Amino acid sequence: MKIQEAIVKAVKILKANKIEEAWIVSKMLLANLLKIKKEELTINSEKELEQKMQEEYFKGICKVANGYPIQYLIHSKEFMKMSFYVDEEVLVPRADTEILVEETLKISKEKDKILDLCTGSGAIAISLLKYGKNCKIFASDISEKALEIAERNAKKLLDNSHSITFLQSNMFEKIEGKFDLIVSNPPYIRRAEIEKYSLKYEPKIALDGGEDGLDFYRIIINEAYNYLNENGKVIIEIGFDQKNDVEKLIEKSNKYTKIQCKKDLYENDRVIIFERR
Ligand code: GLN
Repeated sequence: MKIQEAIVKAVKILKANKIEEAWIVSKMLLANLLKIKKEELTINSEKELEQKMQEEYFKGICKVANGYPIQYLIHSKEFMKMSFYVDEEVLVPRADTEILVEETLKISKEKDKILDLCTGSGAIAISLLKYGKNCKIFASDISEKALEIAERNAKKLLDNSHSITFLQSNMFEKIEGKFDLIVSNPPYIRRAEIEKYSLKYEPKIALDGGEDGLDFYRIIINEAYNYLNENGKVIIEIGFDQKNDVEKLIEKSNKYTKIQCKKDLYENDRVIIFERR
């Protein structure tokens, strides 16, 4: 089978399973296996694909057809124009989360001390350091394995990776000191919804926000106050339908003011910002 034929066959399989961007996904996986650039597939399209390679390719394509994230197969996900290493220990960073980073960059000041809770692959923390204003970043996660990945990404993507401190902590448990900003994309999916297509392969611990999806917002809203400098701010990602519930929790706490909500590129409510009273 020629390279071009293999790609066409892969696209058919993916389309039959309603996988989006079937062409890009098919090319990405094959280029990754052949260790060449996606663009180089075209010049090699008439070349024969070895039997072993074919088997491996279609094994991967079938996984993706079943909803397995392609990013786990190629161990890479683009986020803020950087390529992050990912595997099954961390959530695949979402394009929506770039809004969280951009909003944080807008309000952060020179030399701010920033805490990234639930850092996962480190996508947020590393982007803040890469594009930010000389900030000092603390990135925490409950999962040791996630932290190893975040550290690996920091080493790969930053020349100043020493400005990130990684901490294993269940939310605020082992956090000490005060911060100018606390940013977080915590688990926020309602427990009953996790089994849905395309989320079933990602770590539950990174997605499960409890029965109503709000467990980690309750912790953040209760505790962030004690870890913020005066006028310190919290910036959190939320699910598209969680704005009202989260805003109510913030108001009820009586600890914060200036609650704002920002939308993502699809016009969904995505980020909530609030300030310590
Ligand atoms: N945005 C992710 C999704 O919808 C969930 C992220 C999270 O729980 N923090 O798949």
